Formats: sequence, structure tokens, C-alpha cells
Amino acid sequence: TDSQNLPRVAVITGASSGIGAATARALHADGYRVALLARRLGRIEDLAAELGDGAIAIQADVTDRDALVAAAQRVQDELGGADVLVNNAGTMLLGPFSSEQRADYRNMIEVNLLGAITATEVFLDQLEDGGGDLINISSVAGRTARATNGVYAATKWGVNGWSESLRQELLPDVRVTLIEPGVVDTELPTHITHEATRQAVQQGYDVATVKPEEIAEVIAFTLARPRHLAINEILLRPAGQL
Ligand code: NDP
Repeated sequence: TDSQNLPRVAVITGASSGIGAATARALHADGYRVALLARRLGRIEDLAAELGDGAIAIQADVTDRDALVAAAQRVQDELGGADVLVNNAGTMLLGPFSSEQRADYRNMIEVNLLGAITATEVFLDQLEDGGGDLINISSVAGRTARATNGVYAATKWGVNGWSESLRQELLPDVRVTLIEPGVVDTELPTHITHEATRQAVQQGYDVATVKPEEIAEVIAFTLARPRHLAINEILLRPAGQL
């Protein structure tokens, strides 16, 4: 929004759990009005009710462009437009490369990569109006690759390349920031469909030390920098992660 008096407005995809929900709480605590997007409406409605004034829940699947367009219209009408978009919605469906996993590959590309791209093109006019911020949640897997995470890594490497290009196109009006976490204690591994992989990965997450609130703090810090300073990229791991 171009209003100088109203609090800034942040749109967060995947706000129903994990890093997205924590980011919504942190930004709301910093005085932002927040639009919570996700598919699980009950979760985001509960979070909006918890936050109270200045929080709205909008059901939207990031693979459904019409739903994102409708969400952008509501953000415009009810909050005056978005100043910040946090592209956080994501899935991590790990497993050995196999045609049995092909639905997982399509899902990760459609959510993690195309979902972020689509949300951004849909909200871009709002972000450009008065100076905005785009936060793309990538991963350590956006800079590394390991056996069994190939397509997940491909989506995050894709996010990294696309973000850097966009950073150059949009500066200085829209700051583009990549956040690249290592293991964070969230529901992320619970959706893995390859059972042996799910169990192995879950063991690592069961002892995860970094909480989503700690990622949210970093996002809030990044956004709070004065407009002349852009934090382009933050790679952060649990201290014990290889
Ligand atoms: P969660 O599983 O807790 O959260 C994922 C969020 O994405 C949920 O809110 C979910 O909402 C949403 N989501 C999934 N699919 C869709 C869809 N089609 N449309 C809209 N929203 C969708 O995991 P995290 O909080 O960990 O994940 C958030 C981001 O952080 C992801 O991009 C992930 O890759 C990244 N990340 C996580 C790390 C970790 O270790 N936890 C490490 C590095 C990066 P709903 O199901 O209600 O739609």
C-alpha cells in the first residue's frame, strides 16, 4: 500500500503450520496486518482469531491461480494491498528417484516453484505500489543436493535462480530475500509418501533443535531493515547440521 499511516500488510502462504504460522505471529506482533493463506481453512481461521485485529484467513491452494487472484482481490479490498509477500508454502516429498514418486515430483514443482512464481506474479502490482518486500523460503537444499532429495532440491535451486533474477529486475522498489533454513521442527517430513524415507527423515526431525519461531525472527529482522538496505540471502542451519 502507499499509505504512510496504516501498518504494513504481509501475505503469508502456507500460514497454517510451521514456519508460515510462526512468521504470521512474529509479523503481527511487529504491528503488521497479516493475510494468512493455506488450504486448511480451520487452521488459518484459528490463527486469525488468536491474532485478532488485523489478521484475515483466506483459503487458497497455491497451485490454483484463480484462488490466488481471488485472495489478492480480498487483500486489496480488506487490507488495502500487500506490502510483503512471504512465499512459504512447500512440500518435501523425499525418496529414491522412481516413477512411483512421479505424483510427488509434480506436487513439489507445482507448489514449491510454480506456486511461488504464481503468487508473486499475482501480487506483484500490490508489492510494487509504495515499496514492497518479497521473501522466498528456499532451503539448504537450494544450495546443496543429496541422494533422495533430487526433485525437492531442484525446486529450491529453481527458487534461488528465479529469486536472483527477480531481485535484479525489481530493485530498488521491491527487495527480494531468500531464506535458506536447514532442519526446522515442523510438520514438513510427515507428508513424505515413501515410507522408509519418511521414517528415517522423521528421526532427524524428532530431535530438531531449531524451532519455526527462530526462522520467523530472522524474517522479521530482515523486513525491519531500513529501505536502503536489502538482505539478499540468509543460509542458516542447526549448529550441528553437516
Ligand atoms: P509445514 O509442513 O509445517 O508447512 C507447509 C505449509 O505449506 C503448510 O502451511 C501447508 O498448508 C502449505 N502448503 C502445502 N501445500 C500447499 C498448497 N498446495 N497450497 C497452499 N499451501 C500449501 O512445513 P514448514 O513450515 O517446514 O515448511 C514451510 C517452508 O519451509 C517450505 O517451503 C519448506 O520447503 C521450507 N523449509 C522447511 C525446512 C524444515 O526443515 N522444516 C527447511 C528448509 C526449508 P496447507 O496444508 O494447509 O495448505
